[in-house]
Amino acid sequence: MKTTQLLIPTQKEAPNDAQVISHQLMIRAGLISKLASGLYTYLPMGLRVLQKVEAIIREEMNKAGAQELLMPVAQPAELWQQSGRWDQYGPELLRFNDRHNREFCLGPTHEEVITNLAAQYLRSYKQLPMNFYQIQTKFRDEIRPRFGVMRSREFIMKDAYSFHLDQDSLQQTYELMHQTYCNIFDRLGLDYRPVLADSGSIGGDSSHEFHVLADSGEDAICFSDESDYAANIEKVAFSKQDSACQAQADETQVLTKKKTSIEDVAEFLAIEQSQCIKTLIIKTENGFKALALRGDHELNEIKAHNLFGEFELATDDEIKSLDLKKGFIGVKGLSIDLIVDYSASVLCDFVCGANEWDYHLTGANWQGVEFNEADLRNAVEGDTSPDGKGKLVIKRGIEVGHIFQLGTKYSEAMKANVIGEGGKAVTTTMGCYGIGVTRVIAAAIEQNYDDRGIVFPQNIAPFQLVIVPINYNKSTRVKVLADDLYQQCSKAGIEVLLDDRKERAGIMFADSELLGIPHRMVLSDTHADNGNVEYKARNNADKIEVKFDDALSFIQRKIN
Ligand code: ATP
Ligand code: MG
Repeated sequence: MKTTQLLIPTQKEAPNDAQVISHQLMIRAGLISKLASGLYTYLPMGLRVLQKVEAIIREEMNKAGAQELLMPVAQPAELWQQSGRWDQYGPELLRFNDRHNREFCLGPTHEEVITNLAAQYLRSYKQLPMNFYQIQTKFRDEIRPRFGVMRSREFIMKDAYSFHLDQDSLQQTYELMHQTYCNIFDRLGLDYRPVLADSGSIGGDSSHEFHVLADSGEDAICFSDESDYAANIEKVAFSKQDSACQAQADETQVLTKKKTSIEDVAEFLAIEQSQCIKTLIIKTENGFKALALRGDHELNEIKAHNLFGEFELATDDEIKSLDLKKGFIGVKGLSIDLIVDYSASVLCDFVCGANEWDYHLTGANWQGVEFNEADLRNAVEGDTSPDGKGKLVIKRGIEVGHIFQLGTKYSEAMKANVIGEGGKAVTTTMGCYGIGVTRVIAAAIEQNYDDRGIVFPQNIAPFQLVIVPINYNKSTRVKVLADDLYQQCSKAGIEVLLDDRKERAGIMFADSELLGIPHRMVLSDTHADNGNVEYKARNNADKIEVKFDDALSFIQRKIN
């Protein structure tokens, strides 16, 4: 294709709302254009990249025996009522009424629609297993759309759903999908890790996320420095420890006026935050609970949710109504249930609130305190890996994929049964497998850029080669050679862009570098005098002179 025939609105400056490099570069390179918060148009160059990502995903899914279909974006409320999610799903679900006042939503995901389909068409165990997928637009009314297409409201997902007679069959497909995802992310040229993820109520190792490692990632991923252990920080589970506590200090009430945060208290008393206990008050469906954690640890909300169900931090008024003093809450003499994190319950001679205004206790110990123990906290760097091998290192990741063993949650609610071998109805067992197709593009850029712009992995670049002729519109010789090379490359099936604009060389170079096209050939009168063209790779500063007659075979070798 020729540059003058394409809309490639490159720009020098990034918009103010673009905080991360991929968002800045996608706008600057003219890949996307913002319509409204979390809504983007894919411009011709962006669409080429998107279609390449889709093609790789499609090929690998087909190879794995999954079959493609396409479901509607709009979904009737009845299906969501059957699964119970119409009431559960919060404001991320965009709901609307049609002209007959019937309720609908825009699909944020498609479990309901596919399970409804399975209930209609899957009749016998002989048809199983089956794995369906689509590459389709999703809508989620994200509370904070940000980072461009990384967290947008409308985005494209590859979602797959498999149906099985039993758990063994699901396990097999799950492993096949795990491998398929590795093949996909390998071909996309990404540095990624599959990590254990939270699987909510289902438990076990039945969920993995695929993360692209990048500092801008919204998730924290924990890796062992000695083993293969890798898990989302949400999922890292700790077990009860043996206490080696030998209390030595005497409990003393000390005046800590106005020191209400762990940081302030630790600094004031000149002790480590890890020697302090902080007490959080939460409101659950079964009343208020006090949670005690080590001062340097954070509550893991997913663990708390799994233990207590829906919960919120108590408000100041609620804390007051329990006769507790915010900033000075401790673990002694509480009138509500106390649950202590495993690593807080082994502390000795610690500091905690005195349950009196302006006072903390030092040299406190657990003797005489009634409590239950639980795993409540997030992992921190340096924790012992849960598999017992090595210490945890924490890195940032962008979640690009998620595979999940659903079990019978949807098939039971929506009656997706088949006739089993013995003639009895069997509820199918399900798996689901998602890839954020548009997020993959942003993630690829987060890992592949330099000060000139995007450095696309070869397989997803909008073009493989750009030909930059200098004085194309003035020198007939250059024009003839450039057109000739362009024709040769096009015929050979190379995706080539000919920059036929009347622009200065510097501008043409800058644009193709911003766009991240992996290979560049420059033609000029000077090069032509020697019968040469000049070659440069996007990821290498060296320029190489190549004989014009060898140019095609040279570039073919570079591309393959
Ligand atoms: P997140 O924790 O990032 O919100 P999620 O758990 O809601 O993700 P899933 O429901 O598992 O995501 O969706 C499958 C995939 O879709 C995710 O792995 C991610 O790559 C992608 N995805 C989810 N939400 C968005 C979004 N708002 N914008 C772009 N891609 C998204
Ligand atoms: Mg989400």
